[in-house]
Amino acid sequence: MSHPSNPFLNLNYEPAIESLADYHDVVTAAEYPMHKLRWRNDDVLPILGLAPSQVSDDDFIEAFGHFRAVRSFLALRYHGYQFGEYNPQLGDGRGFIYGQVRGVDGELYDFGTKGSGRTPYSRTADGRLTLKGGVREIIASEALHRMGVKTSRCFSLVETGEDLWRGDEPSPTRSSVMVRFSRSHIRFGTFERLKWIGRTDLTRKLLDHVLQIYYPQFWGKENQDGIFYLELVERVATLCAQWMAVGFCHAVLNTDNMSITGESFDYGPFAFIPTYDPRFTAAYFDYAGRYSYANQPAACYWNLEKLQDPLGMVVDKNDMQASLLKFKDFYRLAYCEMMLKRLGFRMLSEPETEDLIGATLELLSNVQAIGYNQFFVKLRQSFQPNWREDVRHIFPNPDWEITEEQAPLLEKWRVVYHQLLIRQPIAEMENIAQQLKTANPSIIFLRPKIEEVWERITLDDDWQPLYDAIAQLKE
Ligand code: AMP
Ligand code: MG
Repeated sequence: MSHPSNPFLNLNYEPAIESLADYHDVVTAAEYPMHKLRWRNDDVLPILGLAPSQVSDDDFIEAFGHFRAVRSFLALRYHGYQFGEYNPQLGDGRGFIYGQVRGVDGELYDFGTKGSGRTPYSRTADGRLTLKGGVREIIASEALHRMGVKTSRCFSLVETGEDLWRGDEPSPTRSSVMVRFSRSHIRFGTFERLKWIGRTDLTRKLLDHVLQIYYPQFWGKENQDGIFYLELVERVATLCAQWMAVGFCHAVLNTDNMSITGESFDYGPFAFIPTYDPRFTAAYFDYAGRYSYANQPAACYWNLEKLQDPLGMVVDKNDMQASLLKFKDFYRLAYCEMMLKRLGFRMLSEPETEDLIGATLELLSNVQAIGYNQFFVKLRQSFQPNWREDVRHIFPNPDWEITEEQAPLLEKWRVVYHQLLIRQPIAEMENIAQQLKTANPSIIFLRPKIEEVWERITLDDDWQPLYDAIAQLKE
């Protein structure tokens, strides 16, 4: 099977990280007994200058299932703090960089694999990805992307016909290989390794690379390193605020899962919070709740602080610490912005913003009968321009259970919301309705929903519910 015309084999690949030589090992891809394309992300193709009609399923399979090589495959070297403990035995254990390619937007992107076989960093593990793990990563990244969170995308998922054994899935379980499309696979942990091996020179070289490729606006500027770190603080704080606003719990915020571009990636035991419960913890093995929903800002802050150790070999530490102190302000700004959008507003004054978000969270933390994202879907579905006319029009007959004690909280929310509406011109009501649709997809991927989708795949090999659910995100 030869496809000289396969567009994926003819993209403009660039030897970016490869040419630096010191941050990877060349590896080979696993061979699989089966190749069934289960997912192709046609939405991403235009970034590569491709139309979906130009790319066949066989093209996907040849490039991202058989891994017909265009360049060397690079398993990246990295370390990381896992649940607070330093682990020098990490690195791409089941993935590699397939290639780096320039998008039509001028940005450099990575094709990174997950489940593509063993590498020098696999330790005792099999180098594989379960099919369910692949399906869950599709869901996390598409849902986050839809809600405006900067995230890697799942580019393709090929089922590979092996039996895998896992402690957290009924086993044997089906296997897959995923290709992820992301801004970068350089992690905080990529720098941490350089400190561990005591290589100031390699730190400088990698930081120059990061600046040139991902922060070119700062490259060559006075104090370029300091402004880079400040920008990273802002990006990470913004990303974290967006996770919080959309009710996303990443679950494994180790420093090897933190991208140097501030992009969200690597979705394992993630979950969308069912209700507004700050203590919600997504990973069953996170006994102490280190990465609980409410701890995510503190975890991101901790990771940024730890990053000062390796960067400190070449960047001024006092300067970085001063930048880190701005985390809270960046976070608050981004959180309010996204929450306002989810509530239908573009701009409100600071006190109005505080009042509205405060009333919303007070309601949702006390009324656990309504889900967190469910509330925003109900708002999207129920909102009418006539809410502005009379507070009694707002959620007149809520279909969620509300006790007598909780009723004043809903009443308070209604009043706050109504007050804000009457301060807007009537013409603005249509914009609010539209904004609510834009910010709040009508489908919520709570765990039972994901399990429902997975059950159809595992029991009947029926993939339509997954495709339908992803399509519903666009509504
Ligand atoms: P993750 O939890 O996916 O971020 O992975 C943490 C580390 O374990 C990384 O170094 C992975 O490459 C490695 N790892 C996870 N699962 C496997 C596997 N099945 N085979 C080999 N390495 C793995
Ligand atoms: Mg990881």
